[in-house]
Order: sequence, then structure tokens, then C-alpha cells
Amino acid sequence: MSKNYRAELVGVFGDPVDDNPTGVMEESAFEYCGLNYRYLTLRVTPDDLGDAVRAIRAFHMKGINLTMPHKINVIPKLDGISEAAQIIGAVNTVVVKEDNSLYGENTDGKGFVQALNNRGISLAGKKLLILGAGGAARAVSVECALAGAEKITILNRTEDKATELAGVINNNTPAKAEGYHWTPGYRIPEETDILVNATSIGFSPDINGKPDIDYDSIHAGMTVVDVVFYPCETLFLKEAAKRGAETVNGLGMLACQGALNFTLWTGVPAPLEVMEEQLRKEFI
Ligand code: NDP
Repeated sequence: MSKNYRAELVGVFGDPVDDNPTGVMEESAFEYCGLNYRYLTLRVTPDDLGDAVRAIRAFHMKGINLTMPHKINVIPKLDGISEAAQIIGAVNTVVVKEDNSLYGENTDGKGFVQALNNRGISLAGKKLLILGAGGAARAVSVECALAGAEKITILNRTEDKATELAGVINNNTPAKAEGYHWTPGYRIPEETDILVNATSIGFSPDINGKPDIDYDSIHAGMTVVDVVFYPCETLFLKEAAKRGAETVNGLGMLACQGALNFTLWTGVPAPLEVMEEQLRKEFI
């Protein structure tokens, strides 16, 4: 009888990467599904990214996640990327196809849309206000536009990034987008259906930080979402909940993107609840 002592490999390239929690989430899903896969958390410096990408093939890996600072620079090293990743301009997941080609996808924004859908919230026809215009904001706003959002307003401290992102959405999706400078104490327009904090404000250790908006302009009809996943319940979400808004934390988005990656690599439906529960345990 021949035995298999070799595990299928996936993982993440980043720098810094030591505190990236994705591995424990993916490994919990592999174990639950009885799959002989390992997730490697690998520190890769920008100078070594080319060698690391070549190692994906050399080690016969199934795929890899990319985190800071590699999400953009990896693109020219791949054989192809999805249309959404092209519009976003960043890749967070690589899948090794049957023909050994490296295909890039971006599941950050898809995870956001999925997390809302799992709560029974559709993006179709919705008006969104997004705080921030960095990598997370790009992925979230493009995927919401592709999922049918009607209007997306982007506010950012650095105005150029907000207007540039609005242009990307207007040129590549059916949604209407506008980008503005974020003025302190900004009043959220009454018409807003979904308000998103897509900045890093509030992320541990900045647990007393919250986006500078007029919280009394949040009303009960709004859904308020934070991409920050640690702490799970940020001050931003607590303030929104006090005003009666429905709140959605960043943990669901993180688990949903992890679940999408799991299925892209293994072809197996992901045990989302197991993955979310594992993350929750990590963040206690
Ligand atoms: P970036 O560095 O690309 O962007 C940061 C954004 O936050 C920019 O728009 C920046 O504005 C804004 N910002 C930061 N500090 C302030 C401040 N004090 N006042 C006003 N604006 C500020 O980071 P990412 O977009 O990659 O990540 C943002 C957050 O999203 C992180 O906390 C990350 O952990 C989280 N994230 C969560 C995911 C999930 O699955 N839940 C997935 C991916 C990211 P400016 O342009 O002016 O600098």
C-alpha cells in the first residue's frame, strides 16, 4: 500500500506578517473537512517577492494569499487576474490552475458583499457612504458597485485618492460614484443606506479611536459596517448601535473572504461557521 506523507500547501506572503490570523482560520477548516492541507504564514520582503512567486510552482502549492506590501506588485508576476481584481488594481489570492498557471483574484470586497448577504442585506439599488480610499475601501467599493449598488460616495482624508477611486468606479461599473475630502464632523446624508468604515481607525491598539463624523446623523434605517475586525465591536459600531442602526463587524468579512479562498484552493464548500468561530477565539 502506498502512503502519502505530502500535504497540499497554501499560505500567505507578507511583511510584516507575524500577527496575520488567516492561517488558524484556514487550518481549522482543513481539519474540519478532513483535508490534508497546510497553511504557511511566510515573511517575504519586497525584494524577494519574485523568488517567492516562483516557489509557488516549485513547491507545487495550490495557491497563496498576498498581504501588505505585495497586493499590487504581485500582479505582473502572474499569468492572469480576474476582471474585479483588474478594476481594484490589487490581488489578495492566487490560485494555481490545472495547467500550472497562476491566477490572481481579490476576495476582500467579495467577502464584504457575502457577509452582508449572509445577514439578508442586498447591495442592489443601495446608496453607500464609504470612509477611506485605501486598499480595503477600493476592494469593498468596487465589489459593491459590481453587486448592484446605485450610488457610492467616498470620503477620504487625502482627497485625490477619493476622487481617483470614484473615477475607477464610474469608468468600470454601472454605479455612480463621487469622491470628496473628508471634513471633520461630517454629517451622514439622510439617504444613506449603508455606511462603511473602510479606514484603519479603531484597529487595536487604537481602540479608543473612531472616525470623525457626526454620529447623531446616523439613523435607525441605516446599516453600519466596519472593516476593522479587532476589536470585533469597535467604538464606531457601538456609536451606530446606540442610534438604532443595524451593525455588521469586520469579522464576518474576514471569515467570508477566507471561506472564498478555501473553496478556490480546495474545490470544497467552506465551513464558514467553523472558520468564524476560530477567529472569534483568536480575538478574545
Ligand atoms: P490602507 O493603508 O490602504 O488605507 C488606510 C485608509 O485609512 C486610508 O484611506 C487612510 O486615509 C485612512 N486613514 C488612516 N488613518 C486615518 C486617520 N487618522 N484619519 C482619517 N483617515 C485615516 O489600509 P487598508 O485599506 O489595507 O486597511 C484598512 C483597514 O481595513 C485595516 O484596519 C485592515 O485591517 C482592514 N481590513 C479588513 C479586512 C477584513 O476582511 N475585515 C480586509 C482588509 C483590510 P489617507 O488615504 O488619507 O491616508
